[in-house]
Amino acid sequence: KAKERGKNSFQYFDKTMKSEAEFAKTIKRDLSLALEKNQFFLLYQPLVDVKTGKVVGMEALLRWQHPKKGVISPFHFIPIAEETRQIISIGEWVLRTACRQRKEWLNMGYFDFSISVNVSVHQLQWPDFAKVVCDILNEIELESRYLELEITETVLLESVDAVVKNLCHLKEAGVKIIIDDFGIENSSFRYMQKFKADGIKIDRSFVRDINLDVNKAIIDAIILLGHRMKIGVTAEGVETREQLDCLIECGCDEVQGYYFSKPLFPDEAIQMIQKGL
Ligand code: C2E
Ligand code: MG
Ligand code: MG
Ligand code: MG
Repeated sequence: KAKERGKNSFQYFDKTMKSEAEFAKTIKRDLSLALEKNQFFLLYQPLVDVKTGKVVGMEALLRWQHPKKGVISPFHFIPIAEETRQIISIGEWVLRTACRQRKEWLNMGYFDFSISVNVSVHQLQWPDFAKVVCDILNEIELESRYLELEITETVLLESVDAVVKNLCHLKEAGVKIIIDDFGIENSSFRYMQKFKADGIKIDRSFVRDINLDVNKAIIDAIILLGHRMKIGVTAEGVETREQLDCLIECGCDEVQGYYFSKPLFPDEAIQMIQKGL
């Protein structure tokens, strides 16, 4: 009996592995065509200022409308795009699309928020990256102060120089740099030493379990670090009133999460701003 169960569970495991591998293979194959087939789109999630309650930013979040598999989350295809270096062209599409959207909103008279774009370290290792960003801003005629780049610091420390070069170039050009998912990577503090970011974003895992003393302490420490460095601190993944109250108490500057809004289509995002959240 036990043997049978063992065998079954092994089979089950094997089957999952196989379908996962197949899923990855399909994704890899179809991803190379997704750009030209126009299958990507962006959703926008508001960032809210704790003190004023106003929307101060919109984060662009990438989605892939797969013809057979439906909408696919970036968790499933960004790592593959990084591996195949398609992240360079996909990332450029994201930047251009988000900046165009921001320009359109400016033309409609919405001046008070910036647009945040997630950038992979693989993009930042590419020597031309900063120049391409500046070219896009020029082409669209969007002022750099409207753009924030969110970087997840999974960077390999040996390649940090190329990354820092791009970051400095961007900062000089007036683009803001935010360190995303702060606190979960070993290199969080290392980044702070190498480069003066304009803001940090506390990883949502700390916010989710904010009722645990250790997480509250970590959040306190990150906020203290940010404020000592005279930069803003944002918390992501805020889902409840309790979490929000706790973050207010800790002195967090900006918040983002389902408590305020899920990621929205552009027209929904602007409706939210019109309504004042
Ligand atoms: P991230 O930049 O840390 O974005 C936050 C993620 O948390 C988003 O997932 C968002 O939809 C989700 N989220 C927001 N509020 C809540 C909440 O209250 N509760 C929970 N449980 N989740 C919340 P999403 O859109 O699936 O993106 C996942 C990650 O993929 C992003 O994490 C980012 O690292 C990456 N990503 C997304 N778009 C792009 C892109 O255009 N380029 C690159 N390179 N990476 C991207
Ligand atoms: Mg900001
Ligand atoms: Mg982000
Ligand atoms: Mg995050």
